[in-house]
Amino acid sequence: MRISIRKQLLSLFAPFLFGLWTTSAVVSYWLVSSYVDGAFDRHLINSADSVVGRLRDRDRKVTVDLPPAAQYILKHEELDTLYYRVLDSAGRRVDSGDDALPAPSAGLKVHVPRLSFSKVEGKEVRLVEIKVEPPEWKGDLAIVQVAETMITRKRFKDHMLLSIAVPQLLILAVGLFAVWDGVGRILTPLRLLQGQLANRLRSDLKPVADDNIPEEVFPLVQAINQLFARIDGEIKAQRRFISNAAHQLRTPLAGLKTYSSIGTQMSEAKDLQHIVSQLDLGLDRASRIVHQLLALARVDESERQKPEEKIDLSLLISDLKPDFLAQAERKSIELSFEIPPATFLPGDPVGIRHLAANLIENAISYTESGGRIEVRLSASEAGRVVLEVADSGRGIPINDREKIFERFYRVDDSSGTGSGLGLSIVKEVASLHGAEIQVTEGLAGRGSCFAVSFPA
Ligand code: ADP
Repeated sequence: MRISIRKQLLSLFAPFLFGLWTTSAVVSYWLVSSYVDGAFDRHLINSADSVVGRLRDRDRKVTVDLPPAAQYILKHEELDTLYYRVLDSAGRRVDSGDDALPAPSAGLKVHVPRLSFSKVEGKEVRLVEIKVEPPEWKGDLAIVQVAETMITRKRFKDHMLLSIAVPQLLILAVGLFAVWDGVGRILTPLRLLQGQLANRLRSDLKPVADDNIPEEVFPLVQAINQLFARIDGEIKAQRRFISNAAHQLRTPLAGLKTYSSIGTQMSEAKDLQHIVSQLDLGLDRASRIVHQLLALARVDESERQKPEEKIDLSLLISDLKPDFLAQAERKSIELSFEIPPATFLPGDPVGIRHLAANLIENAISYTESGGRIEVRLSASEAGRVVLEVADSGRGIPINDREKIFERFYRVDDSSGTGSGLGLSIVKEVASLHGAEIQVTEGLAGRGSCFAVSFPA
């Protein structure tokens, strides 16, 4: 199943935003509560203070001068019930007041109101108690208790909390919707890009238009365009290769056809032998080209997979030795090998065999009779392995020393059965192994020397 960016963003944001909202609601409730409690408590203390203001000293006894009108004003609350009571120093109720109130708290300090939560007639109340001891009372004292139920206070808190939390919840919902909708809008360029690619013809590898592409998607478009350019280049190279290969094969095939046509007209054994030997040469050339093409295709396929197998280059070259000694002898060329016993390196044995064989084959092809060829293998202390093939042949003009590695390139006056593919195989195999190739002058100031240096 595909991952949805939209769902991922929402599942990332939603819990975070809900957490934020809950925290904010809790903090708001706490702040609102303390603010509302403070305001209501001050109001309650004021009520208690107004009762204190009504206390009188009559014949050294505390009385409350609270006429019915004043009592009505004190007790008049729409939803809540207000209770009050005055106790004298002996703890007796003075005049009017509510006996339902709890016994006064111990340890009250004079003129310092004490607030607490309590219960009166089963209802939760906020209670304020004040101990009063005016100096002119000469030792007598009174305690004033005023309590009020908390309905208005609670409603007030609930309203304030709702007026904060509900809009916040709306903002949260709008925020989540904005994320949902925003993702769709942000991804519009990707949809356009998809449209551009989906409607293309198979052969259309021109770059994708990158105007109006957001900064974040731009690298993707760039990567796609680079890939297109690479594929385009590779397709063109393949086409060139196929047409070159076809051309290379056509020449020997045309020769074969000519000789075979002439052969059909001949009856003399001597003439026919000449034709057959020409056919043999032509077939040699064609089969060599096919062989080289297959080798190149194989190297191309193994591209980018760095070979890991450990091979013994000394053994591999020793295996090739008898064949090449025989070839050299046929051309009266002196071929010598300088190979240490075991030279190991990580590599592709088939590829390396092609590399060595092509270099030695070329040396034999481009060296005249009586010439000399030296094949040397050495391993430096740092672990680099160097294979050198030096000859005293015709050499390679400096200007051609780079071009000879191109596919199908042959130096102008090259004769023989060459296809121009041998050195491209050498180059591909070397680059696959991270090896470097150097072309310098050959033996005794003549010919050429190919040195392939494999990394440590
Ligand atoms: P070919 O099949 O023609 O030998 P290569 O790719 O092996 O193709 O070599 C490309 C060209 O490089 C050859 O045509 C030849 O002109 C030149 N060349 C390669 N090796 C040698 C050499 N040892 N001495 C002189 N010329 C060489």
